[in-house]
Amino acid sequence: MVSALSRRLLCIAFAALLACIVPPAHAQAGVAGQPLGTCLLVDRGQRMDELIRHPERFDCTTPQHRFGSGDFWAITTSIDRRSTFAEPLALRFASLWQDSLAIHLLYADGTVRSWQSDQRGISPLLQLGAIGQLSVPVRDPALVRALFHVKGAANLRGIASGVRIATEREGGRANLVLAALYTFFAGMAAALIVYNLALWCAMRHRFQLHYCMLLAALLGYTFTSSGAFAWVAPMLANNDRLRFNYVFIGLAGGAAALFTRSFFEDQPMPRWLDRASQIAAMAVPFSAMAAALLGAVHLRIADLLYTLAFGGLLAIVIPTLWGAWQRRSNFLWLFAVAWSAPILLAAVRISAALNFVPWNFWIDNSTILSMGMEALVSSLAVAYRIKFLRDERDAALTREIIARNLADIDPLTGLLNRRAFLQRAIGRSEQQQLLLIDIDHFKRVNETLGHDGGDEVLRLFAAALRNAAPDPVLVARMGGEEFALVTPAAQRIEADALLATLRKVRMPFDLTITASIGTCSGSLATDLDWKALYRCADCALFEAKAAGRDRARALRLDAA
Ligand code: GH3
Ligand code: MG
Ligand code: MG
Repeated sequence: MVSALSRRLLCIAFAALLACIVPPAHAQAGVAGQPLGTCLLVDRGQRMDELIRHPERFDCTTPQHRFGSGDFWAITTSIDRRSTFAEPLALRFASLWQDSLAIHLLYADGTVRSWQSDQRGISPLLQLGAIGQLSVPVRDPALVRALFHVKGAANLRGIASGVRIATEREGGRANLVLAALYTFFAGMAAALIVYNLALWCAMRHRFQLHYCMLLAALLGYTFTSSGAFAWVAPMLANNDRLRFNYVFIGLAGGAAALFTRSFFEDQPMPRWLDRASQIAAMAVPFSAMAAALLGAVHLRIADLLYTLAFGGLLAIVIPTLWGAWQRRSNFLWLFAVAWSAPILLAAVRISAALNFVPWNFWIDNSTILSMGMEALVSSLAVAYRIKFLRDERDAALTREIIARNLADIDPLTGLLNRRAFLQRAIGRSEQQQLLLIDIDHFKRVNETLGHDGGDEVLRLFAAALRNAAPDPVLVARMGGEEFALVTPAAQRIEADALLATLRKVRMPFDLTITASIGTCSGSLATDLDWKALYRCADCALFEAKAAGRDRARALRLDAA
């Protein structure tokens, strides 16, 4: 049953989801500039200066991934823009796994300007969003086109993709927007790690640790995939940076599998599902590790295995959610809201990796975007979990209070029982008056009215006692038809007046019920005091009975 609070949380979560799925208009600046088409040619030792003037020799129709891995030439469609001192241009393109890259820029006057990567690949050109950005030298003639010479292209996500011509100012703006995006996510992830670790100390839910692992891996991935790593470590080859991407996203996938296993209540999953999610939790990081280590040798196979492992992870989510649904998990809707975007976007990423949909910048950055949203929603989820715990605690407290009351109360009369009475009476330091009240000839009452009738008399008698001696007087049924009252001696009860009140109680069949009272006053600080005081009051009661019943007797403690 979804409570009002849950419904409110649900609305907030959906708003967050929408805000993140639809990237704000200015975020499009992340892919600054005007897109350029690229056409390909397999490298068979052709000369650059021939090719750059003959774009018609290139294949512009076959999708890039069909070319497989190897050495290639890629030429852009016509640019026809001038790079000036006032507005210098830059060529922007996606970072891809490749051994080396040369870029040749052809100007309208036939001049060619070239850039050649060293052993670091495109690392020195990397901007935020892991976008390569090459400044177009300022010259009077317009830039006509660009020719990429790629050696050792793994061609997992294309050979030359996401190629754009932009002004350097647009490139700078894109950096700013992306810096905001990444720092937003990194800040939130860091805060959530601390927050969840602190909560884990209090709540000890295993999924909290898995969630922290997931966030830590994503923080690492943000650092390496954003291109910030290339700024911090400019000597690192771009391919090696991509290896780090594999490692971190693989670890994130493994942690996500563990998190999904432990997120729902501790009810057992079917064995096969448990086993499958364990395998996925291992397969994703191991296949990612394999892609990182074997990258140079068998990257395409390693990447395919890694993509399939991720697909397996996603496949496991469906029966896990189904199981949670069947078990009526309270947290299913939270999981669905928080994780629907990351799961859908992961599915899109897998489709792109298998070339079912074309790769683009937003797919590349979808993990950060969707996890940013997930992180937002999951802070609400934690609040919901805490509310759930509070409800559970309140219910347990109520149960405990009820249980304690039941243990303290005599079920027939509703008065304190002997144990609870002694617990409350003993320990009082100031002088107390104890009254022992015993109904006269109660055996006869039972004989006259039957046992049930006797019970009714006990109930009426107890209620009258309680009325005649309100709080703070302790009133208890000591057993059978014997009752006891304890009151501070300063507020002593007149036993005769009490008897008069009790005589007036209307009993079944107008039966006359009388009682005898023995009273005694003294300290009740210890168990010994109680024994002495009880003996004294009992003697007084015995005297009252012996003197003919229906009367009260008082004894002094030293006389008893
Ligand atoms: P006395 O005036 O000397 O106190 O005589 P009495 O008959 O009241 O005293 P006695 O102790 O001989 O008998 C008490 C009777 O109370 C015996 C028992 O059957 C009855 N009794 C004890 N507990 C209950 C109870 O819970 N319900 C009912 N109906 N009777 C009870
Ligand atoms: Mg009696
Ligand atoms: Mg008795």
